[in-house]
Amino acid sequence: MKTSAGVTYSAFTGWSDEPTDIATPFRGDIRCDVAVVGGGLAGMATALRLAERGVDVVLLESGYCGWGASSRNAGYLSNELAGEAEVLQFFYKNKLKNLTRFAENSAQFTEGLIERFDIDCDYEATGNIKAAISEAQLGRLRRNAEILQEAGSNIEFGDGAQLGLPSTFLGGIFVRGGGLMNPGRFTAGIRSALLASGARVFERTTVRSVEPNGARVTVEVPSGRVDAERVVLATNANTRELTIGPSGVGPVYTSVVETDPVDPEALEAIGWTTRAGIVTPHQILENYRRTPRGTLLYGTRRLRGAPSGPLGAQAPDPAVVDDLTRGFHQRFPTLNYLAPQRAWGGWIAMTSFLPVAGEVAKNVFYGVSCNGHGLAQSPYLGTLLADRLAGDDPHDDLQTLWRPRPPRLPSFVLSTPVFEAGWAVDRLTDRFGI
Ligand SMILES: Cc1cc2nc3c(=O)[nH]c(=O)nc-3n(C[C@H](O)[C@H](O)[C@H](O)COP(=O)(O)OP(=O)(O)OC[C@H]3O[C@@H](n4cnc5c(N)ncnc54)[C@H](O)[C@@H]3O)c2cc1C
Repeated sequence: MKTSAGVTYSAFTGWSDEPTDIATPFRGDIRCDVAVVGGGLAGMATALRLAERGVDVVLLESGYCGWGASSRNAGYLSNELAGEAEVLQFFYKNKLKNLTRFAENSAQFTEGLIERFDIDCDYEATGNIKAAISEAQLGRLRRNAEILQEAGSNIEFGDGAQLGLPSTFLGGIFVRGGGLMNPGRFTAGIRSALLASGARVFERTTVRSVEPNGARVTVEVPSGRVDAERVVLATNANTRELTIGPSGVGPVYTSVVETDPVDPEALEAIGWTTRAGIVTPHQILENYRRTPRGTLLYGTRRLRGAPSGPLGAQAPDPAVVDDLTRGFHQRFPTLNYLAPQRAWGGWIAMTSFLPVAGEVAKNVFYGVSCNGHGLAQSPYLGTLLADRLAGDDPHDDLQTLWRPRPPRLPSFVLSTPVFEAGWAVDRLTDRFGI
C-alpha cells in the first residue's frame, strides 16, 4: 500500500521475501518427544538443537518459520540487556553479573550460528553505540557505563568524535560485541538449517491449545492433535493467546522506517564514520543505522499497545512513521532531503526487561527473550532450553533466567496511552536538554 507521502507500508518484513518452500500444514494425529509451538528464532533454535541431539521433535508455526519479529527487526545483534543499567541494578543487583554474562554469551552464540551455517546475512561485527543527544543523557550514560563495566560488560565510554558519531550526538557507550545484520536473511538461513535437520516442521499451522494430559501433553491444531511428552512455547508476543502461556508477557507493536539510498559522502560530512548501530537512551529509544543496501533505517520512538484478541499482521501507524521521520530530520538536519521509502514493524514481547524461561505447567516449558533484544538472545535461549530437555544439567545461563512465570506487569503499563506519555516525556527532555 502507498500513502500520499510516497511511503510503502507493509504488514510484512522489509528485509526478505516469503519463502517459496513453505512446509505443509499439519493434519492428523501424531506422537513425538517434544512439540515446539512457534517458529521464530527461539522455536527454530530449540527444534534444531533437539533434532541434532536425536530427539524426535515437531515444530508447529502459524505462518512460516521466521514470519514474526525474528525477520522484521532492526538487525542489531546486541550483547546487552534491555533496560537502563541503573534500573537493572536497582531491581536485579544480585543477578546483574549473571544476566550480563547471558547477554554476552547470546551474541557470541548467534555469531557462531552465522559462521557454522555459513549464513549470508550481511553480518558486520561493528559493535553498537548508545549515544547521547544532551549533556543530561551523557551524564546518565557515564553512570550506566560504570555499572556495566562493574558487571563485566565489554564497553568503552567516548565522546562523539572518538566514536565516529554524527555531530548530533555528544558521545556515549561503545558496546564492543555484536553488530548489524539483515535479520530476514539470517532467519531464512536458520530456517533452511532446520528444514534440513531431522525435525518435523509444519507451517501455516496455528496451535489452539496446549493441555497437560497425565504424563503427556496434548497440542490441538484446527485439523489434528499432537501427543507430546513435553512442549516448548516459543510464541513471543502471541504468548497470551494460549491460556496456558505464562502471564507477564505483553505484546507491543514497534516500527521501523527505511530511507532512500544515501551518498556515503553526506554521512562523512556530518561525522558519521562509525558503521556501528546507534541507539539513544530515551525512555523509548530511537535507533539509527546504515543498511547494506546503502539506505538508512530508523525506528521505535513511539510504541503501540495491543488490542484485545489475537494479534494479526499489521502495518505501522502512519502517525508513528511521520513522527519517526520528524525525529530523523531533527537528529540529522542536513539529511532532511532523504525521503522515507518504506515502513514495517511487528509485535514484540515485553516482560519486566529480563529474558525469562521456565516450566509453566507440568512438562510445558517456555522461553521469552525479547524486550527488543531477542535477535541474539532467542537462538541462545532456545538452544539452552533444548539442551536441558535433551537431558543435560541446566546451563548456568539458563538457571539465571529460570522462573515458573515472568513477573507480572500491570496490563495498563503496555497500553498506547502510557507509551504516548513516555513519548511526551522524551520530547520534553529533548526540548529542555534534561
Ligand atoms: C520492528 C522490530 C525491531 C526490532 N529490533 C530488534 C533489534 O534490532 N535487535 C534485537 O535483538 N531484537 C529486535 N527486535 C526483537 C526481536 O526481533 C525479537 O526479540 C525476536 O525475534 C523474538 O524471537 P522469537 O522467536 O521469540 O519470536 P518471533 O520471531 O515473534 O516468533 C514467534 C513465532 O511464533 C508463532 N506463533 C505464535 N503463536 C502461535 C501459535 N499459537 N501457533 C503456532 N505458531 C505461533 C508466530 O507466528 C511467530 O512466527 C525487534 C522487533 C521488532 C518487531
